[in-house]
Amino acid sequence: MARENENQIHAMFFPYMAPGHMMPMVDMARIFAAAGAKVTIIITPMNALRIKNSIDRDVKSGRQITLEIISLPSSEVGLPQGCENFVSAPTREMCMKIFHAIELLQPKIKKLLSDYHPDCIVSDSLCPWTLDIANELGIARLAFNGSGFFNLCLSETLSRYEPHKNITSDTETFVVPGLPDEVKLTRSQLPDIVKGRNKFSELFGKLKESEKKSLGVLMNSFYELEPAYADHCRNVLGIEAWHIGPVSLINRDINDKVERGENTSVSKHDCLSWLNVKKPRSVLYICFGSLTRFSKKQTTEIANALEASGHSFIWVVGKVFKTSNDELKDEEQELWLPQEFEEKMKEKGQGLVIRGWAPQVLILEHEAIGGFLTHCGWNSILEGVVAGVPFVTWPIFAEQFYNEKLVTQVLNLGVSVGNEVWKAWATEDSPNIKTANDILVAIDAVMGNTQESIDRSKRAKKLGELAKRSIEEGNSSYNDVKRLIEDIRMHKNSK
Ligand code: UDP
Repeated sequence: MARENENQIHAMFFPYMAPGHMMPMVDMARIFAAAGAKVTIIITPMNALRIKNSIDRDVKSGRQITLEIISLPSSEVGLPQGCENFVSAPTREMCMKIFHAIELLQPKIKKLLSDYHPDCIVSDSLCPWTLDIANELGIARLAFNGSGFFNLCLSETLSRYEPHKNITSDTETFVVPGLPDEVKLTRSQLPDIVKGRNKFSELFGKLKESEKKSLGVLMNSFYELEPAYADHCRNVLGIEAWHIGPVSLINRDINDKVERGENTSVSKHDCLSWLNVKKPRSVLYICFGSLTRFSKKQTTEIANALEASGHSFIWVVGKVFKTSNDELKDEEQELWLPQEFEEKMKEKGQGLVIRGWAPQVLILEHEAIGGFLTHCGWNSILEGVVAGVPFVTWPIFAEQFYNEKLVTQVLNLGVSVGNEVWKAWATEDSPNIKTANDILVAIDAVMGNTQESIDRSKRAKKLGELAKRSIEEGNSSYNDVKRLIEDIRMHKNSK
């Protein structure tokens, strides 16, 4: 596809192969194309199928996007054919194999960049090696790390000042120094990599360094969500960043919303007709992202809490994992819920269970949704913010505890279930199972009719309006997309 004119920039995107990274990055690529850039997305065959329909619709509407399909070296690392995304990797060993296969793509990426010579490569931060290739070829590199300004500021401050090293116990609360707000954490909520060196320390160090040496960082955020942290990041930490989100808002067509990510396990018709008969703001939506798994025991506690709450709900149920006491067959892992729970909830009209993949963005924006019980993945937080709903927070791993603190301590938009312990993998329970009562108390606080919950819902609604406005002409994210494209153009012309 030829460029329309010499002034048009050509951006190549190399999304990481996990839904929480790939989906926002593909949305970003579509935002670039909507802003007039020529875009190429480097992607593997199975992942291409996940995005093809949306891209075809964009192309029909005149945007310049092409897919450059490359195969993953599956046999070299012992991966089954077609397993090209963390969401389809059943074990952590398989996830590590995908990770290695992505590393082995370096020569292919180098060849593509050298053949196309785009004006910039947008790379996931998890691939720090794209910086070396970009530098060698004289191409600007932009980093995408999948989270927000608050997380960037918090993790950078923790690594500079190490406040967690001055406390005596894992459960003692400490304040993170030098941030715009008083943010409190415990050591047990910190990722292992922050607490001490481990096998990922080297990668993490490289990743941070390559973010700083890039032209800048692309943020899936909007200024009004975390203004003090956007300013802190740029002015105090000295990191160049553009906020161009919430990127999920590029999905305006109902089919884009329904087809985003995996094939959904429920039809949009079933989902919407179930929601359409519910009162506004009366339904709790529960989803723990694309990777979290719970045991049978924890799943039972959640089910008991939902039933006892009496609130209507949509629960996206993932696979349960086996503990040493279980004798579950593989197919039972997919299907497991306490006996007759689903039927009972269906009969009472209280709950809709979705096993597998839900059209999250479509569900959240329905006026019947009044709260979101979430694992605090950044995409889920932003999608809930756009929908204008308050949160019940239940972080598990990655940077999810940091995101929780933004929601509960800074924005005052959520109530925590009270998980205190970070886990290295999303496929293990915390040592302290959350009881039905813990969960119920947090759900009631958000979904109840107290003045506090009414005020929280109002704040959420107001922020949702700001989120939607930020991408409209003349507003914060719209302006930062323009500034970004201009910065890339200036970088290109300076060479
Ligand atoms: N998602 C979805 N349907 C599901 C589960 C997840 O559409 O059933 C989407 C969700 O909308 C979000 C992404 O998957 O965009 C999950 O990203 P997040 O950062 O919230 O969590 P992660 O999966 O990375 O832990």
